[in-house]
Amino acid sequence: MSKKQFKTESKKLLDMMINSIYTHKEIFLRELISNASDAIDKLYFRSLTDSSITLNRADYEIRIVPDTATRTLEIRDNGIGMTKEELENNLGTIARSGSFEFKRADNAAGSAVDPASNTDPDIDIIGQFGVGFYSSFMVSDLVTVESRAWGADEAYMWKSSGTDGYTVEPCDKSDAGTVVTLHLKPDAEDENYSEFLDEWKLKELVKKYSDYIRYPIRMEVTKSRRKADSPEDKPEYESYREDETLNTMVPIWKRPQDQVTDEEYADFYRNKFYDYEAPLKVIRQKTEGMSSFEALLFIPARAPFDYYSREYEKGLQLYSSGVMIMEKCKELIPDYFSFVRGLVDSADLSLNISREMLQHDRQLKVIGRAVEKKIASELTKMLENDREKYEQFFKAFGRQLKYGLYMDYGAHKDVLQDLLLFKSSYEAEAVDNAGSGEDDNAESTPAYVPKLTTLKEYTARMKEDQKKIYYAAGESENQIKLLPQVESVLAHGFEVLYLTEDVDEFALQMLRTYADKEFLNVQRDELDIATEEEKESVKKENEQSADLLNFMKDSLGDAVNAVRFTNTLNQHPVSLSSEGMLSMGMEKTLKQMPGAEEGGVKAQLVLEINLDHPLAGRLKELYGADNDKLARYTKILYAQARLISGLSLDNPAEIGDMVADLML
Ligand code: ADP
Repeated sequence: MSKKQFKTESKKLLDMMINSIYTHKEIFLRELISNASDAIDKLYFRSLTDSSITLNRADYEIRIVPDTATRTLEIRDNGIGMTKEELENNLGTIARSGSFEFKRADNAAGSAVDPASNTDPDIDIIGQFGVGFYSSFMVSDLVTVESRAWGADEAYMWKSSGTDGYTVEPCDKSDAGTVVTLHLKPDAEDENYSEFLDEWKLKELVKKYSDYIRYPIRMEVTKSRRKADSPEDKPEYESYREDETLNTMVPIWKRPQDQVTDEEYADFYRNKFYDYEAPLKVIRQKTEGMSSFEALLFIPARAPFDYYSREYEKGLQLYSSGVMIMEKCKELIPDYFSFVRGLVDSADLSLNISREMLQHDRQLKVIGRAVEKKIASELTKMLENDREKYEQFFKAFGRQLKYGLYMDYGAHKDVLQDLLLFKSSYEAEAVDNAGSGEDDNAESTPAYVPKLTTLKEYTARMKEDQKKIYYAAGESENQIKLLPQVESVLAHGFEVLYLTEDVDEFALQMLRTYADKEFLNVQRDELDIATEEEKESVKKENEQSADLLNFMKDSLGDAVNAVRFTNTLNQHPVSLSSEGMLSMGMEKTLKQMPGAEEGGVKAQLVLEINLDHPLAGRLKELYGADNDKLARYTKILYAQARLISGLSLDNPAEIGDMVADLML
């Protein structure tokens, strides 16, 4: 019988388990019990539609069998079992390859470690993330898995003593299900593995980690009783063996809210949803009436590594009276809240839901809408009561809210517009951060200074004569601050939103207005902050210089729609603005989208010349006197304006030559 090798990643993880100096090795039991429970779930679920499965719900059990004589610990289940291929595929590869991916994502952020080389006993990956079946190697030097798949005629045994590979061979097993046998490592000076054979220890571990498992976890325990024939006043005792169910089987979301600790929620979340951090927020919901259901929802503290990729799948787990019937039910969560993990449990749902989905579509929609409302209201509460936490949330998932707004054409703007945050020119003051000051001790948390602003806050600060909500878009806050138009709007005492994410401007365009105020990109031609008098004089000047301006426009080909004088640029000589729907920033974003056509979308640009700058006079002089020079200067000015706006040049070498010539 030949040995097969583990896949590379699995081998690394296995190595780590075998050599682990992790102090909470006991979690192996939780992992094996959770696998057993999943296997029973699968068989039970199948039994609902397969009459050949004659087990009743009460027949299912997980059994723990410690044996001090052989120094083995068995975890048995009568679930769905595994075929030979499944044994090889499931146990020869890491199922949760996500665990490594998580670390890689973190690595990109510059904070993480290679899990395989890490010897820190508190290493996240083991304790918090959970590593499934392989954790058995933290406590065993030999592991066998005997399994018979439901409906199969033969059973197989998988066997491995670690990284040198594993074998799979036929074995005897009369019923479907799985027996995992751990041959415990010998005790060492500072490691006591024998305790995992101790009844009390095992009871304690089940209570601690697996109490909510919905199938009975049983173990034969030693008890003692008075011998029936011994006299009452002189009792004699005898010990006997009896089955005991170690868990209460009440799922965490069915327990009274005040009886579940934060720690328990966090454990449940990390284990169930494969995160290695505690959730940022836990939300519980219970409704009765039209469709009654319970929901337990989690907002992660950070976006998963694949969140903004195609691979990410949204959805909540769907339970019917405590039995999971669907792993990811998309109907329960709108796209813009796709980051929410968790589950919905409803007694009203038929267990056959996956096959008759359409029939139940409406019911799911009703639940979905209620869940959506709840999430929105919880986020609003967080925004109002715990600004710091909300900004942390927004950093992770704000982008998704903006996408959401855009993707359904503003259909959900009522839900979303007040949840958006933006950078702004406004320097915020400290707010009382009610949420994080839970411990009312003397050293209360310092007040938090918001780094971002809501639209509500912006409009509340608007000046009486301010007609629009001003914003500017660019790569970074610094680049935006230096835009001539931004300077000039700020000089008027108006606040400017700084949009640095590509989706920002598209989202605002979907909103169109907020509190009846229109949004306006300050780099738009319609920027209208001059007084009537000023406007009048600029208008006159533009009319009088029409020939000059047309000449300049013509010398730029079709790069711009117009060249115009303006007086809203403070001391800057030139700048670029756009007319029409499409801004420069939007053009840039659209061009970067996959599949964008060359020259497909184009913002309508206007080159603006500062009328109050000496340059304006110089241009007027040149017109008619030296048109060649005027054409060259126009090109240089246009290039400068592009650079200021964060746009690249089509012809940088030509511009470089022209500027060099000027210096001679
Ligand atoms: P995970 O449970 O996260 O998928 P594991 O490494 O613990 O990862 O298990 C790998 C796979 O092996 C499981 O997904 C499951 O398909 C299978 N498996 C493990 N234990 C059992 C069991 N007791 N019965 C049936 N299948 C099992």
